[in-house]
Amino acid sequence: MLPAEIAADFKALGLPGYRAGQVFRWLGRGVTSFQEMSDLPKALRQKLEEMYVLPSLRMLRRQTSQADGTEKFLWELPDGESVETVLMRYKHGNSVCISSQVGCRMGCVFCASTIGGKVRDLTASEMLDEVLRTGVAADAEISNIVLMGIGEPLDNFDNVMRFLTLVNEPEGADIGMRHISLSTCGLVEAIDKLAGLHLQLTLSVSLHAPDDETRSRLMPVNAVYGVDRLYAACERYFQTTGRRISFEYAMVRGVNDTPYHARLLAKRLKGAGSHVNLIRLNYVPERGLEPSSEETVRAFAQELADGGVTVTVRRRLGSDIDAACGQLRRGRMRGS
Ligand code: SAH
Repeated sequence: MLPAEIAADFKALGLPGYRAGQVFRWLGRGVTSFQEMSDLPKALRQKLEEMYVLPSLRMLRRQTSQADGTEKFLWELPDGESVETVLMRYKHGNSVCISSQVGCRMGCVFCASTIGGKVRDLTASEMLDEVLRTGVAADAEISNIVLMGIGEPLDNFDNVMRFLTLVNEPEGADIGMRHISLSTCGLVEAIDKLAGLHLQLTLSVSLHAPDDETRSRLMPVNAVYGVDRLYAACERYFQTTGRRISFEYAMVRGVNDTPYHARLLAKRLKGAGSHVNLIRLNYVPERGLEPSSEETVRAFAQELADGGVTVTVRRRLGSDIDAACGQLRRGRMRGS
């Protein structure tokens, strides 16, 4: 609940207005019971305990990368389902990558999250709890959020927007929109709807191929929109919000990593002021697709740069702990 909603409830209960702020601040610090709210009178804590539930995620597994300190958490939800959160520590601050759904129905052929389909959407409160619980468990201040875990955030639009409002609250987690990235496989109507909200977040679009033929091999969603409609939506998004889009491109050996793809991509994106993030595919055993070689990635990046597109090659953090999308939850489902 937002502070104003708690305040409205409390008013109806005849409680003074400042109590709502006190409770919201405690929740923002990640406490899981009213008993811990030490500046509330004991009787009130008791009363609130009886009136409200504070559902929270339960840690099932925690893995720390030996290579780079990246941590991955597997959480159990109140109904027994599970999702993952990844904590990445950078010089500029700590970043959490959160899940937005249990599973995913987008069906990208290289992605572990989508193998069992979508089970359900996460609530705003569950997404917020991913941030809070990770901060508490790792004793880390969280300064950045990326919505790049399990699920398609724009397929859970309303809950994700409410989560953004909650996590933005100055008295709570206080994470500003400019410190939040949202990644989508490219749901065109939802991109337009998001543009209309004029948020200052960074939108990442998982492109992974510059042409319909290749993209449709990798991403079923492409059969619905196609790259022309997607590019057009990205252009409208930039015009409406003034925010540059960042394109994700997972390099899959022999599928989307040839000089032909690089040149076509450069041609399409040139002058659009967008940025391309290359990442070598994380190998997912169930999928049978291989990552491109580092050499191929370097050549691809060079081709883009020569074509006038800004490009970065993403470091792979946590690859020794199955930190790619959905891999840990998938492991639990397999029983490993
Ligand atoms: N559904 C959203 C966000 C979650 S996926 C989206 O599609 O953007 C986050 C990113 O990880 C996406 O760019 C996705 O395409 C990418 N991804 C999924 N599986 C991957 C893998 N095995 N290797 C590399 N990137 C992968």
